[in-house]
Amino acid sequence: MTVRKPLFAGNWKMNLNHLEAISLVQKLAFALTDKDFDKVEVAVLPPFTDLRSVQTLVDGDKLRIVYGAQDLSQHDAGAYTGEISGAMLAKLSCTFVLAGHSERRQYHHEDDDLVNAKVQAAFRHSLTPILCVGEGLPVRQAGEHVSHCLNQLDGGLRKISAEQAQSIVVAYEPVWAIGTGEVATPEDAQEVCGALRGRLAELYNPEVASAVRILYGGSVKSGNIAGIMAQPDIDGALVGGASIDAGEFVKICRFSD
Ligand code: PEP
Repeated sequence: MTVRKPLFAGNWKMNLNHLEAISLVQKLAFALTDKDFDKVEVAVLPPFTDLRSVQTLVDGDKLRIVYGAQDLSQHDAGAYTGEISGAMLAKLSCTFVLAGHSERRQYHHEDDDLVNAKVQAAFRHSLTPILCVGEGLPVRQAGEHVSHCLNQLDGGLRKISAEQAQSIVVAYEPVWAIGTGEVATPEDAQEVCGALRGRLAELYNPEVASAVRILYGGSVKSGNIAGIMAQPDIDGALVGGASIDAGEFVKICRFSD
């Protein structure tokens, strides 16, 4: 059986300028030890304008923190004002990129076709997509949360090969839990994450299913992460608000201590 190294990714959203970004990464680097990095992978996902500064710091100080972006264009280059390409992110040595975060789906009307085009764009540039799926409150109240998330997974992974799929990260983020302080119970999170892993086995094969890291996201804090991480199909967390507090994010990364 594949051993999946837990991943904790901090989605800073539209917070922190490049100077504040340097300060936060320095605090994380100071607090996290080699022992932590041996146990878990730690990623930060700052705004685009911070990435070059984060790269300089990570490279210069040979930090074990990795980083990535919160979005990318489905296009590789050209007349797409305001967009950032996968090639540009790869040039900054980004490891990860979010695709289909619920705030992109909600405020920028990104549908599964566009999310899928972005996942494909990420792979064209050797970036690891973190494909986000999750249901809104009405869908959960209707009891359709599992099928909703499986449909988003199917849509996001169209034309993605088994070889590509085994390196992807999937994040289950119930929309009603994002930034609300309302966290899914560990059992609720496991129900969907287990179903997502099952679907990966159907779409590809059991090896892909057991290699893919599935994260939970939605009001994760140091006080609730241990129960979430105790679930068999949850391999880490996508952390929003709590990730811009260095002390809190470090505690989340040390969920087992
Ligand atoms: C997120 O933005 O991906 C997220 C999970 O946010 P929060 O942790 O603030 O709910």
